[in-house]
Amino acid sequence: MSDRRIRAEIRGIVQGVGFRPFLHRLTERFKLSGWARNTGSGVELELEGRSEDLEAFLQALQSEAPPLARIRDVKWTLLSACLGETSFRIIPSTHPSQREVLVSPDVGICPDCLRELHDPKDRRYRYPFLNCTNCGPRFTIIRDVPYDRERTSMAAFPMCSDCREEYHDITNRRYHAQPDCCARCGPVLMWRGQAGEEIGADALELTKQALRRGEIVAVKGLGAFHLACIPTPEAVSLLRRRKHRDEKPFAVMCANLEAARSVCHVSEEEAALLTSHRRPIVLLKKKPSAPEGISDNRELGLMLPYTPLHELLMEEFPLLVMTSANLSDLPAIIDNEEALSTLRGVADGFLLHNRDIVTRCDDSLTRVFRAVEYPLRRSRGYAPEPISLGEKMPAILACGAEQKASFCLSRGSDAFLSQHIGDLKNAETLEHYKTQIDHFERLFGIAPATVVCDAHPDYLSSAYAQLRAKEQNLPLVLAQHHHSHMVSCMADNGLTDSCIGLIWDGTGYGDDGTVWGGECLIGDASGYTRVASLRPVALPGGDLCTHEIDRTAHALLWDCGLVSQSRCKNADFITRQLDAGLNCPRSSGMGRLFDGVYALLSARGRVTYEGQGAILLEAMARETDKTLPVEFYEENGLVRFDTRPMVAALVEQINGGGDRAELAGAFMNTLVAVGVEQCRAANRQTGLRRVVLSGGVFQNMYLLPRLLDALTGAGFQPYHHSRVSTNDEGIALGQLMIAHARRKDVN
Ligand code: ZN
Ligand code: ZN
Ligand code: FE
Repeated sequence: MSDRRIRAEIRGIVQGVGFRPFLHRLTERFKLSGWARNTGSGVELELEGRSEDLEAFLQALQSEAPPLARIRDVKWTLLSACLGETSFRIIPSTHPSQREVLVSPDVGICPDCLRELHDPKDRRYRYPFLNCTNCGPRFTIIRDVPYDRERTSMAAFPMCSDCREEYHDITNRRYHAQPDCCARCGPVLMWRGQAGEEIGADALELTKQALRRGEIVAVKGLGAFHLACIPTPEAVSLLRRRKHRDEKPFAVMCANLEAARSVCHVSEEEAALLTSHRRPIVLLKKKPSAPEGISDNRELGLMLPYTPLHELLMEEFPLLVMTSANLSDLPAIIDNEEALSTLRGVADGFLLHNRDIVTRCDDSLTRVFRAVEYPLRRSRGYAPEPISLGEKMPAILACGAEQKASFCLSRGSDAFLSQHIGDLKNAETLEHYKTQIDHFERLFGIAPATVVCDAHPDYLSSAYAQLRAKEQNLPLVLAQHHHSHMVSCMADNGLTDSCIGLIWDGTGYGDDGTVWGGECLIGDASGYTRVASLRPVALPGGDLCTHEIDRTAHALLWDCGLVSQSRCKNADFITRQLDAGLNCPRSSGMGRLFDGVYALLSARGRVTYEGQGAILLEAMARETDKTLPVEFYEENGLVRFDTRPMVAALVEQINGGGDRAELAGAFMNTLVAVGVEQCRAANRQTGLRRVVLSGGVFQNMYLLPRLLDALTGAGFQPYHHSRVSTNDEGIALGQLMIAHARRKDVN
């Protein structure tokens, strides 16, 4: 006999993850009756039964939740009377009054679906779009909440009778799986030739034939198109020529873990990340057997198939190069017609399907550092899962940086960090950025009361923020670039008290109007003081130095009176430019120092993408204990690392026939010593021992572990990122915390 009835509200990721079938199983087990429904904020239910059974139910709710569910909180109230119900029902979703629901990221194919895909007796045998409550597309197909089929791009595919039966059968593992479908009712594959013409019927087979011939195929995936080819030198160089991508590394999809292990070293943690339901690209150490021409450093980015279509495609290929389908760093293509027109002349064929990609979401890029994930690009499989903040905050929009753009919105104690957006200097990317801000605000029901952006006056994200604040009459907070990096790493580690920030990156706008990037700061979210930096180098031609790294090398030599050593082809002209100080902005950026030193060490005067000098320097370095001179001077209270004695010693050793690989290592060892000295200077002023490391330079895997160890050895407590990226993609989180701290000061 029922003696108690409760109404409960469960919040968190509880929609589209098999939560209601789970509730159904629990109600059967504990003989409870009542109903449940999805709401705008989670799942709502009323249940009645015996008191002890209801207790057991509430306990099991937490301890036995489905793998993809994340219960944020459960609120329940005792109702006055039992209604004498005898069954448990799922009732229709309510429309959201307040949108507090969380949206699940896309989920890689699960073991049950994989088994069906390869089971000749299953009715979904070899069906490239099968999915279930535990896997399949989510974020990339959702137009609106609550999450129901009619608000996804699966709305175009009415279920057949078989699928509908499964969908309504609460004992079936596809119960209320919104994107559920089969070959009779769901999306289909299509093959198009070079000029977009329809050829043949077996799209998958035609794709495989084209790939086997070494051709380039555009493949419509989950969050965007890929360009795929086999990893032979001919096919890869064809892909590079067609994509106008001379040297940037490509990602490789591997049929399985064994295929991955045949070309890279894969640790236990790395294997877990590769096979996780997020299915990111994981940077792994190459083996000598790794195919050539794909990555010019020691690592290769590998991923495993994450959709049934990929599984079928990879049947015959242990490895396929899979790079996002875009031209000259424009946003990756998501639309069939756009692919056919834009990629004409790039792809030899097109593997299309007729399920729309609603939201562009590129592959995520990550790595394992000291057994913990160290994210580099947080996108498909991660977004839009929120990062949990320590405290509740008002609605804030943080607009991020520019080249590795992202944005972040707060709601309660959640921070919704966008997927990877790209470089806003492309008009199409800027449009994507604005569209995604709108989409996130609608999806999560957030109306920002404050806008925060980088203090850089020319960032396009800053221009957007200014316009937005003006139009809606919202307060606008300007956050200094390196301070944002610092606070991002603090938030990543749950730190709020004052600490030291060692913030090394390529460039960022300093609050004195010059370019910073080799900084040591002290402070917290509410403010900072700059304690130490590098001796600035004059960059002849400004932005030209990003690609023409021999200009930076020349400027370093000029600074220590060694221009005679320069191998720069415009040496005389650049010397005159430096002497006159014409268009030579000064930069204390660590990225430029890496570029200049790499140009001195190599015979190379140019790089093809920003930051390549640092990557190549890391790749050429050999392990060593040697260092170069570490000297400092003080300027207006700021401790500066004097690069001149280091550069002079470097040139001398190069001229003396020194081993360049060893010198590259010695240079980075020198930076380790610089970092420790910078922190000591901060410690002398404040007594602080906690140090957060942030900025793109800490993607360097020679530097990072050595610096962490050296700091620990010197009595500091160093912290690095593990939830958001150390590069500019991560700064939106720091901006958000800075805006919150500043607004608190105002109120
Ligand atoms: Zn599944
Ligand atoms: Zn069907
Ligand atoms: Fe930065």
